Amino acid sequence: MKREKYKRVLLKLSGEALAGEAGYGIDNEILEVIANEIKDMRDAGIELSIVVGGGNIFRGVKGATKGMDRASADYMGMLATVLNAIALQDALERKNVYTRVQSAIEMRAVAEPYIRRKAMRHLEKGRVVIFAAGVGSPYFTTDTTAALRGMEMNCNVLIKGTSVDGIYTADPKLDKTATRFEQLSYMDVLQKGLKVMDTTAISLCMDNKLPIIVFNLREKGSMLKIVQGENVGTLVHK
Ligand code: UDP
Repeated sequence: MKREKYKRVLLKLSGEALAGEAGYGIDNEILEVIANEIKDMRDAGIELSIVVGGGNIFRGVKGATKGMDRASADYMGMLATVLNAIALQDALERKNVYTRVQSAIEMRAVAEPYIRRKAMRHLEKGRVVIFAAGVGSPYFTTDTTAALRGMEMNCNVLIKGTSVDGIYTADPKLDKTATRFEQLSYMDVLQKGLKVMDTTAISLCMDNKLPIIVFNLREKGSMLKIVQGENVGTLVHK
């Protein structure tokens, strides 16, 4: 199937993506690699907004299962995404990529508050907008945030970087016979229970026809190939 080219893109980076081999914290080398890929996208004229996760620092549900109040744990998770957003901003600005961090939880000393129209203006001016603190409410995830902001920013596609090059019939790291899907419908993902993004995020994309492409973040140049219409990763659409 022939893929489309995309001009305005929402990139979802999970916390784990920034952690590298250690599985936690921020790995500077990985951050550098990701920043280079993002710079290539900007140089190609792509309007880019990014939603960062926080799982490498704190995951609310895990905190909650250890006896913490779920909402308190989730607020900690949201604050963790702010740390990642600032690290990513710093890495990008060292490469002269202009960025703005907008946080859904106000903290004016470190980030702009989330204002949709202002974020749109930044994109038009060629700045990369990094959305921090999720949607600002507990019981949500940064995947859902990515779907929501993707729609609010009128993005043409949501691309999600992972450690495998798409969606497989089974976990390719555990099952050698697993095969990659080139494309899937939103319904397939929901019905097969494929672990792409949480169901709230998938449903939101489905209801508003925002295509999702899952790709391998470690494969150099993948992001750019996707937006240029190459057949990379797995496309989830109608
Ligand atoms: N979180 C939240 N509301 C949001 C976004 C995130 O409460 O709108 C919390 C939630 O506890 C989550 C944590 O922040 O576990 C980190 O986000 P997420 O798990 O989505 O990060 P990722 O898996 O992408 O690293």
